[in-house]
Amino acid sequence: MKNLWTPWRMAYIEEKAPSEKGCIFEAGTGKSYEKESLLLYRDALIVVLLNRFPYANAHLLIAPCRHVGDICDLYEEESAALFDMTKESVTILRKHKNPVGFNIGLNLGTVAGAGHPEHLHYHVVPRWEGDHNFMTVLAEVRTIPEHIENTFDQLLPDFQELLSLKEDK
Ligand SMILES: [Zn+2]
Repeated sequence: MKNLWTPWRMAYIEEKAPSEKGCIFEAGTGKSYEKESLLLYRDALIVVLLNRFPYANAHLLIAPCRHVGDICDLYEEESAALFDMTKESVTILRKHKNPVGFNIGLNLGTVAGAGHPEHLHYHVVPRWEGDHNFMTVLAEVRTIPEHIENTFDQLLPDFQELLSLKEDK
């Protein structure tokens, strides 16, 4: 199994989300974090969430705050902030989770497998040796809710530190 990036599976996993009220990327609006929504970070431009239905442990979703579905509609400062946050997220995940690789990507449009096509978001999925076993990953999807709050608590201080660094500028 060489190609581990399988957006159709991602769509399948996201599809199983209970019908949430409103857009998941706008949960906790006005707050810099909110555990209930798995919101790890919010500044004026960017939000970072832990995916509630992860492909792997510590699967992050990074989105612009603005409810926009098409990458071509992003403002330049949003594009830059998204990419910067992608890099910061990789650094934070390396520090806490010790992955040996990452899948980073974006599903644009429902046909491409986007679970929330109306609000574009990057997936950052840490990978470990041997984690590609399909059944293991599926089993993990069921067991992760017990651990996801621990992962949230582990990552939150680093994301909030990014925010305080920004505010100090
Ligand atoms: Zn939205």
